[in-house]
Amino acid sequence: MSRVLVWLRGDLRLADNPLLHFEHPPESLLCVYVLDRDWLRAFDGGVTRMGPARLRFLWESLIALRGELLSRGSDLLVRLGDPVAEVARLVERHRIDQVSVRRDAGWEESQAVSRLARCLDPEVRLWCPDGGTLFDETRLPIAVEALPPSFSAFRRRAERHWVVPSAMPAPISLPPWPETASRGLPPLTSVCTEAAGWRPDRRGEFDFVGGEAAGRERLAHYLALGGPGRYKQTRNGLCGPDFSTRLSPWLAHGCLSARQVHDAVRAWENHHGASDSSYWIVFELLWRDYFHWAARQEGAALYGPRPLPAVNEALETWRRGRTGMPLVDAAMRELAATGWLSNRARQNAASYLVHELGGDWRLGAAWFERCLIDYDAASNWGNWRYVAGVGRDRRGQRFDVSWQAERYDPRGHYVTRWLST
Ligand SMILES: Cc1cc2nc3c(=O)[nH]c(=O)nc-3n(C[C@H](O)[C@H](O)[C@H](O)COP(=O)(O)OP(=O)(O)OC[C@H]3O[C@@H](n4cnc5c(N)ncnc54)[C@H](O)[C@@H]3O)c2cc1C
Repeated sequence: MSRVLVWLRGDLRLADNPLLHFEHPPESLLCVYVLDRDWLRAFDGGVTRMGPARLRFLWESLIALRGELLSRGSDLLVRLGDPVAEVARLVERHRIDQVSVRRDAGWEESQAVSRLARCLDPEVRLWCPDGGTLFDETRLPIAVEALPPSFSAFRRRAERHWVVPSAMPAPISLPPWPETASRGLPPLTSVCTEAAGWRPDRRGEFDFVGGEAAGRERLAHYLALGGPGRYKQTRNGLCGPDFSTRLSPWLAHGCLSARQVHDAVRAWENHHGASDSSYWIVFELLWRDYFHWAARQEGAALYGPRPLPAVNEALETWRRGRTGMPLVDAAMRELAATGWLSNRARQNAASYLVHELGGDWRLGAAWFERCLIDYDAASNWGNWRYVAGVGRDRRGQRFDVSWQAERYDPRGHYVTRWLST
């Protein structure tokens, strides 16, 4: 095997990225990212699938990744179009022997790989390792087909058989770029002017900047602040930059892996002492793993039946933050203005749509998909299913939003911040 194409998707980093670790370095390496044009123009639930906040973060991540690849003798090619068709064309043009692509949890992502397999010459090897999660499928304490319907059962098994491998370091150098291959990425202004000009509302007190180095910086900052020592007490916060790790955008785009965060928390515990609180970050990463494996088990069912129903007035009021329920309206306005929302606010907004307004959970999930910088198929659709009580866990999560507002926003700071204009 001598000419490798790495098809990058949700794994925009060098460290702990199995796709970029070679026991026997190939003769040439072509690293490719293809932005699916449909995400910017096809409509799902009345909206395009990728909003400007996520697209800006993605582009920053790609620019940063290109810099890292260049400094190791490689490069990055970014295209717009149908990812499978683009990758298949490049394989043919550059006479590629192996395509490496991460095995993602989402059904659409795995269908894309199956489609590619059908397009490729049988001589071309397709290698699809796991990546980004705490466990690989082979190290899971439970087979994916036997995944229990409740997270607690999964967690208990995972904790009993706890062996999370350490993150791999970034490669020092990489194989050369194929001589005749194009390089680089188009400017964001030529892809989407709205995304190029997008800036978060300052009331969110945070600007997520894409890229591996920025992700590592955020992690280091959170640890230096002593965040793990109080995470369990602060994680339900609504205002401020540091009540939770805010690592989700970097994890979702793969600028960081869950193992890197796990290693960093364990190293922090070695210096400062382990506690229930520091463990709780790992507990949340386990939730992330659980949704990942559940998505793999559920396949197309993850997204619920299709097609989606038409958007009605209740949904529109919810999306615009005009339901009349202050906590929910504040959350929906924060989401639209910043591309991010705390877990507490997400739960309340989702519960209110489904259990109080009688809205369709799939339309809520589609709106979150568009707005969230940290959108991740398994976590988003999995959490929505969980709140709505569809699929594997039918209990549903109904929140008493008025009670929640009194408990988590007793002085009304959050609501005032987002509803005052
Ligand atoms: C309706 C709904 C939709 C959601 N959509 C997404 C999504 O698209 N992408 C996403 O990353 N998270 C999603 N979440 C989960 C969670 O709200 C966010 O991961 C979290 O708020 C991100 O903030 P943080 O990085 O500060 O998290 P922290 O509280 O600091 O947790 C650390 C990390 O653990 C993971 N994590 C924490 N809680 C969850 C959870 N419930 N499910 C899965 N992973 C979790 C995240 O990767 C997070 O970065 C959703 C939750 C709800 C209720």
